[in-house]
Amino acid sequence: MLKFACPSFSRIFFLSALSFISGTTLVRAQTDTITDHRQTEVYSPVPPVVTPAAKVGDAPSDAVILFDGKNLDEWVLTKDGTTPADWIVSKDILTVNKTSGNIQTKRTFTNYQLHIEWRIPSNITGSDQARGNSGLFLAGTGPGDDGYEMQILDCYNNKTYVNGQTASIYKQGIPLANACRKPGEWQSYDVIWTAPVFNTDGSLVSPARVTAFHNGVLVQNNFELKGGTRYVGKPFYKAHGPSPIKLQAHGDKSEPISFRNIWIRPL
Ligand code: MG
Repeated sequence: MLKFACPSFSRIFFLSALSFISGTTLVRAQTDTITDHRQTEVYSPVPPVVTPAAKVGDAPSDAVILFDGKNLDEWVLTKDGTTPADWIVSKDILTVNKTSGNIQTKRTFTNYQLHIEWRIPSNITGSDQARGNSGLFLAGTGPGDDGYEMQILDCYNNKTYVNGQTASIYKQGIPLANACRKPGEWQSYDVIWTAPVFNTDGSLVSPARVTAFHNGVLVQNNFELKGGTRYVGKPFYKAHGPSPIKLQAHGDKSEPISFRNIWIRPL
């Protein structure tokens, strides 16, 4: 038997060696076909020209301005999707009106880059989730809090569950850092949102993903969502199309927070 085993082993070794050598040769051959630097230089498609703002954080030339301190023309109440938003606009800032509920954009979006600034009032009271709670819904998919909420909360010196702290994807994505400023100081979120994709039968093709910076600090890094964010229960997906951006009027008793400089770039 040994007489037959040895040639068989030799054949396998020989074929493996040949495969390794030919593989190596193939890689070398592919590399060697490029002999001129121009072969790896492309000239189209040409990226569009976007003029950046004079100050980092301000809207570039192609942004859709959602709030610039003047009015709420881009916003409606979530409760019916048509009534003009009645949160308080004063001195170029927007303050939550807790009695009127969530507001959302008239326009709908799919994938985008978004900038928003918010401020917890310096006289904030309360603790845990009842201290400056609001929220940025990256897509509002229905009434109330339906959608995907990136939490807004005062966590400068306030303990709560970590998957519900500032810059969490509520009850799904713990932020990579706590980058909170003190109450009374303006803070920013810069978000890159990739919307989920659904088949026509409603089944999921690809989940939503989010990358986000809080005050310039990376807090969500291409995080994959498991579905809509939920207060009670596990997340799941329900098919939807382009959706509004929504801001939360949270029902806690703490002083209302404010917003300014909100813009978006559809991608
Ligand atoms: Mg919230």
